[in-house]
Amino acid sequence: MPLIRSWVRPANDPEGSFPLNNLPCGVFSTPGTAPRCGVAIGDSILDVAAMEAAGLLPLAERPVLGEGAWNPFMALGPAAWERLRVLLYGHLAEGAVTAGVVAPFLCGMAAARLHLPFRVAGYTDFYAGRHHAMNVGTMLRGPENALPPNWDHMPIGYNGRASSVVVSGTPVRRPWGQIRPEGAATPLFAPSRRFDLELELGAVVGVPSSGPVSVARAEAMIFGYVLLNDWSARDIQAWEYQPLGPFNAKATATTISPWIVPAAALAPFRVPGPERAVPLLPYLAEPHPMTLDIALEVALAPAGQDETVIARTSARNLWYSFPQQLCHHSTAGAPMQTGDLLGSGTISGPGRGERGSLLELAWGGREPLDLPGGQRRSFLEDGDTVSLRGHARAGGVRIGLGACTGTILPAAEEPFGGGQ
Ligand code: CA
Repeated sequence: MPLIRSWVRPANDPEGSFPLNNLPCGVFSTPGTAPRCGVAIGDSILDVAAMEAAGLLPLAERPVLGEGAWNPFMALGPAAWERLRVLLYGHLAEGAVTAGVVAPFLCGMAAARLHLPFRVAGYTDFYAGRHHAMNVGTMLRGPENALPPNWDHMPIGYNGRASSVVVSGTPVRRPWGQIRPEGAATPLFAPSRRFDLELELGAVVGVPSSGPVSVARAEAMIFGYVLLNDWSARDIQAWEYQPLGPFNAKATATTISPWIVPAAALAPFRVPGPERAVPLLPYLAEPHPMTLDIALEVALAPAGQDETVIARTSARNLWYSFPQQLCHHSTAGAPMQTGDLLGSGTISGPGRGERGSLLELAWGGREPLDLPGGQRRSFLEDGDTVSLRGHARAGGVRIGLGACTGTILPAAEEPFGGGQ
């Protein structure tokens, strides 16, 4: 795939994240200015809200980029999404006649603060990573019964908490919760001791729906993708999850990367899904390859120390694509909204260094992870910083997803003043 060269020189760096082929959508502010829509190019942010206001990006009858969230633009649908890309190619490509007019709308990324890029309407988390499901199931039920009987037939998921989604860089405070320690007869209320990360991708729904949507239609509804860390309190989860699934264990925070990478930028990186021993029901068939070939990694930095990459894997390990997840989500008639966020579920690969959670990397605490400097980890410690990263690469083009980072703060004082 050829690199589309830009007059914004850093965008042509083969190791950069934001070439003209990418054009990811974020919300930014600078000191004294309000959050507004911006597009990353090289090491800069293009103030597309100001460009729209200046008449340089005619997208709709009313302005759609000025209000600090991409929802109004996403709701316009795929024709407008494509129009924006075409207009931006025209303004940013090498030799663009408008380069002199556009240059004042560039803002150095280092000077900007990044915000949540869209209003999260709803948040659903799937469980579509086969190796993760196998690893967790093996720990809980043994290798013979690792996968539940429904797993090979549909992408299973649960409805999460949209209000707890935060942007990269937001600190995450260790939660309190009801926990029943192993062997104890009764639970106690305490800070989580088994707080964990989950390496996931998130899909952002742009086009709303009512009623069931096909896999093909579902693909066309997805505006773009983010990295997603679904922070998880394993000890709270182990006690609360039966029979209704995760609840407070997943409600502390879910961190997403600040840039929505457009589906159009990742379209060249779609690859065939897995070979399946169990055929899917016809409604889940894909009309063309929809699995994303994105390299992923997790880095962990203890307080005051350098980070270590603790896992490297690929989004190719997802057993169900996002269009399959979204189609299945709609089958019972649930309306989808602009700004719905779908988490893929933890992405792990077959190897030990490819596991997307500490639960798996340290195998439930039985095989703690050794970090440089003599530190060991079974779960996250206060002060730890977790960073997820991802990119797709082909030929001279590297599409980066930006960073998805969070630092663990110590648990608060007992929230009910000791009145447990
Ligand atoms: Ca999850």
